[in-house]
Order: sequence, then C-alpha cells, then structure tokens
Amino acid sequence: MDDAKCPGEMKPSLQTIVDFCLILMLSAVGLPSAMAQRASDEIDWRRVEAAGLEVTRGDHLTLITDVRDRADVDEFVAVFDQAVDQWCDYFAIPRADAADWHMNGCVMLDRENFVTAGLIFADLPDFPAGYQRGDMMWLYLQDGDYYTRHLLLHEGTHAFMEKFLGGYGPPWYAEGMAELLAVHRWADDQLTIKHRIAHRDEVPYWGRIKLIREDRARDRGFDLDEVLMMPPDSFQQVRYYGWAWAACEFLDRHPDYQEKFRRLPSLANIDALEFNEKFRRELEADWPAARQQWRNMVQEIDYGYDVERSSMVPVNNRLTGDEGTSFSVASDRGWQDTGVDVRAGQQLEFSSTGMFRVRDEAGTAWPADAGGITIEYYRGRPLGQLIAAVQASDGDQPLQMIEIGNGGEVEFSVDGRLLMRVNESPAGLHDNQGEVQVTVQTVSD
Ligand SMILES: [Zn+2]
Repeated sequence: MDDAKCPGEMKPSLQTIVDFCLILMLSAVGLPSAMAQRASDEIDWRRVEAAGLEVTRGDHLTLITDVRDRADVDEFVAVFDQAVDQWCDYFAIPRADAADWHMNGCVMLDRENFVTAGLIFADLPDFPAGYQRGDMMWLYLQDGDYYTRHLLLHEGTHAFMEKFLGGYGPPWYAEGMAELLAVHRWADDQLTIKHRIAHRDEVPYWGRIKLIREDRARDRGFDLDEVLMMPPDSFQQVRYYGWAWAACEFLDRHPDYQEKFRRLPSLANIDALEFNEKFRRELEADWPAARQQWRNMVQEIDYGYDVERSSMVPVNNRLTGDEGTSFSVASDRGWQDTGVDVRAGQQLEFSSTGMFRVRDEAGTAWPADAGGITIEYYRGRPLGQLIAAVQASDGDQPLQMIEIGNGGEVEFSVDGRLLMRVNESPAGLHDNQGEVQVTVQTVSD
C-alpha cells in the first residue's frame, strides 16, 4: 500500500497519491493468494548483487537498498525485527507464530537501480512513496530521519495484517491502523510503535495533524460516520490518511470505545461494508457521544492531544442543595460533565475557589487559581482559566467556550448540558494537579 510525502514538502506532482495495493486488492478479489504471499519468488538474487545493491538480512526483513551513508536506513533491519514483536502483541498473535515470517524491503534512492536489478516487477504500479504486495515492500527514501522509517512500518503493518489477520478491513481501518502502528519512537536502539507524539519535532515530514487542522480551518472536516465510509480512491489524497489515523487514535485510546475497537482485527478478513456495519452496531448506544467527543477532539487536535484525559468524565464531589450545585473540576482532565442542564435565556451565578498546578516545568510548578495565569494563553484566554461550554441538546455543534474564571453571572444562549474544565491545550494536561471547587446557583430561569 501506498503513502506520500508530507504535504508541506510535496512537489505539485506529488499532491495526490494512490494506495494502489488497496485498490488492487478490492478490484482483484480472485487473485491467487500464493501470488500475493510470495512476491519475492520473482527476485533474481544474482541480478540484485550484480546491480550493486546492498543486501542486509535480519530475522524478519531483508533490506535491499542503493542508499549509502544514511544511519536511519542502516538500522531498518533492527527496527523491523522489533516491530514484528510489537505488532504480534498489539494484534494478540503469539510471537512464535511470526517466528518465520519474513519480508523483503526495497528502500530506493534511484528507481533505475531497482529496474536494473529486476526488482520493479512489470505489473508494479507507479507509486510515489511506498507500496506493499505480499512479502515485498518498496519505499522511496524520504527527507529527514523519521519519515522513511515511518513508511517502512506503515507498509509493514499492511503486510502483517494481510498475513496474520487475513485482510485489511475497510479503507479507513486499513490505512488508519497502518498509520497508528507506524507512528513510533526510535531511541537508543529501542522501537516503540503507537507512540504518543508529544511534539511535531518527533515526527518530521509526517504532517498528518497539520492537514487535519487545515481541513478544519477550511470547514471540510469529517465526522466519524464519514471517516468510516471513506472510499478506497479517496486515499489518493494524503489528508485522508490523517483523518483515518485520527479515527484509529481516538477509538484505540478512548476508554469508552477501546475494548470494542480492539476486537476489530477479528473482522479484518470480512467484507468492508459488513465490517463497518458490525462495528456501528457494536457501538450503537455509544455512537451519539462518540460523535460529539470526536468533534471535540477535531476542534482542538494538536501534537500531543491526549485522548484519555480528554474523554468525558463526570465532575467530582457533586452535591445539590438549597445553595445550588457544587462540584470539583479536575485540572488534569478535558471537558467534564457537571450534570447541570441549562436552558436558553437562563442565568446562573458561578463562584470558584482553589489552587491547582497548571504546569510542571523541570520540577518547577506553575500555580494557578480559576482566573488562570497571564504569562501564557491558550485559544486567546489565560492558561488555567476556568471555562464552561454547553453541549447542545440537539448535538452536532462545536462547543463555544464561556469564560468563568473566579466567578460571575452567565446567561446561556442554548439548551444543553453544562461542561467545565480549565483552559489548556489537551496536549498539556498531563502535568496538572489539583481541582477547582465550583458552586452554581440559578439567578433566573
Ligand atoms: Zn497504506
């Protein structure tokens, strides 16, 4: 399967890409599986050697390359061998089952060298970045020392799923999983796949989150149902890889959906529509909330977006009495459900107390109260400021932030459920600590 350069780095001719493998798979169901499994039978190793290509054999990967003097490529065999164990663990395949599994990977600087070596098979499509068929993968060398390795793991995930799950599932799942399990950290000769990206510098030239943010700014984002129905040919555009990755990141890490999502590998070998139908049916009761929380994620997605901490939970210590409703808002969580329903035109009086930590930078705590701190801002408001939003009863609307701070009166403009949190990027919640105590009283109905 195929992937492309980071859009920010793409030349105009590479603006579109084609996931040929997937399209071939969907259009050639009758293809003898042996053909896909043993693409390497076509390799003439004497010819490869005569063409001057470098061949390195590992447990699970034979690397064939014309790239010299690139430390990242020298490590690919070690990277791939570690990835196989981690794919096994993720997909619950016993490691022993994959002991003899072997791929051949061409990492190409100049395609002509591989034509000479007989490695560009006659029926191979003209892919711009990466491609996988059975036990063969082809990748073009990419800029930076992250992105070629990412492509190796992306194509490797496709190959692993084809081999051990018997299929890829629908396009969003095939490409989303390949992206999810290709996002990685490689440090001190140790690989971690499905790495949580904290900063864009960790994934140079990957660019998927930037694409989602650009789509959002142009009002051409996708809701969750639309992601599920992405047709195979939509993956001619790299932004679709971003959305498919985001959906898998969301469903895999969200505590309410993770268990059901992680059962999907068992469906990877069935028809794509049936796969989607079964998954939707599994999540039927959760779907409206999932759609809303997906929308919340898209609204604030950034490098380091923390799906677990951003998943909706109730506020703590909720009490209702004559003096109104009181509760605690955790500083290290995203939107929290106050259990308070509001109506358009209703006025509520808020008061808040308490100190919390809004950042821990190299052991130095940044204390804040509900007013926030004005050394730093997020979305135009002080970091740590207490904010509210109404999740509208009719759903499907982006949340509008309402400033609460240390308290005051608020008149609401829509009916719905009151949510609260402190103002910070969902990428920066992990080092917060403490709570804000809030009391809400009705001023006028
Ligand atoms: Zn792919």
